[in-house]
Amino acid sequence: MIAHNRVLITESDIEVSSKTLSTGWVAQGNCVSFLEQSFNEMFNDGDSCAVSSGTAAIYLVLKMLGVNHGEKVSVPSFSCSALLNAVNLLGANPIPIDVKEDDFTICAGSLNKLAPDSKAIIAVHCFGASADISSLKKNNRIIIEDCCQSLGGPQGNDGDASIYSFYATKIITGGQGGLVWSSNQKLIDKIRDYREFDCREKYIPRFNFQMTDIQAAIISNQFDRLNKIRKRRREIRDQYISSINNYLYQGWKLQKGLDEEGLLPYRFIMIAPDKKERDILKSKLFKNDITSIVPIEKYELLHRYLGLPIENYPVSEKLSDTCLSLPLYPALKNDEVNYICKVLSSV
Ligand SMILES: *Cc1c(COP(=O)(O)O)cnc(C)c1O
Repeated sequence: MIAHNRVLITESDIEVSSKTLSTGWVAQGNCVSFLEQSFNEMFNDGDSCAVSSGTAAIYLVLKMLGVNHGEKVSVPSFSCSALLNAVNLLGANPIPIDVKEDDFTICAGSLNKLAPDSKAIIAVHCFGASADISSLKKNNRIIIEDCCQSLGGPQGNDGDASIYSFYATKIITGGQGGLVWSSNQKLIDKIRDYREFDCREKYIPRFNFQMTDIQAAIISNQFDRLNKIRKRRREIRDQYISSINNYLYQGWKLQKGLDEEGLLPYRFIMIAPDKKERDILKSKLFKNDITSIVPIEKYELLHRYLGLPIENYPVSEKLSDTCLSLPLYPALKNDEVNYICKVLSSV
């Protein structure tokens, strides 16, 4: 069975982690600083703070930019519940917003209807496709670019801060981990101060949001091969695209943006004309030992979790019925990709 996702740990990942272990320094230290430096260099600007997870990164940005109890934070409904958790931990009020049908990113029109008075917006670059940040910037709203699925793409430079995750299924991983990047030095300083509690002269409440050097060493090693990862993901995407003409003629579509120059394809999402067609392809792949997944099931939609009126989220509802995600990851072998293409192109 070909898995929907498989992590790629190379010999050199193993080497750097055992090297780090043998130094005797395993907690947050030089490797974490080095990882932060790499992000600053990627952006040629700003500063970063590595933290324990992507969810922690969102929480810290909202908290340190002054989002208070009860204030509204808009999130795309077609997204993962980590967003709700970060907002809820802060005691703020998460408002799910419907997404755009073509690229699945948060819809400015739905935002204006459901929560025009949001204090902050978490704009997810969904599966690698760019959210339209400029259409969301209004009335001093705080914009967090959620780049958990788009590291290696062109995004991250247009909001108040961008956040990353290094969880096992992401583009690069250390098992767990997260990072905030911002051109706002004060914000990063505040987050860095809050992240650790030891050896302080004065007590104020802080927490432990640290990444370990073991994680950071592995993540940095993978960051170094980002070009290779990007290239491999694009190759697989291109092979799939040239194998699905059958489907495209029958009204299937691809998520908009993922075939654009410069973007990093995180998931290969096919959109069926209806649920029945989607489920037929899913079971055809399964019968041929290929795992595909519904990226966000209906019950996972954030407005459903919160019991909000379904009629305000027609696009998210439809996408959870029609989307299918195929295996797309650098650990896929050539013969596996060829085999998947063969199954896709056979009628
Ligand atoms: C994975 C993910 C997160 C959460 O990151 P964790 O490191 O798992 O906490 C948040 N937003 C998006 C879009 C993600 O894909």
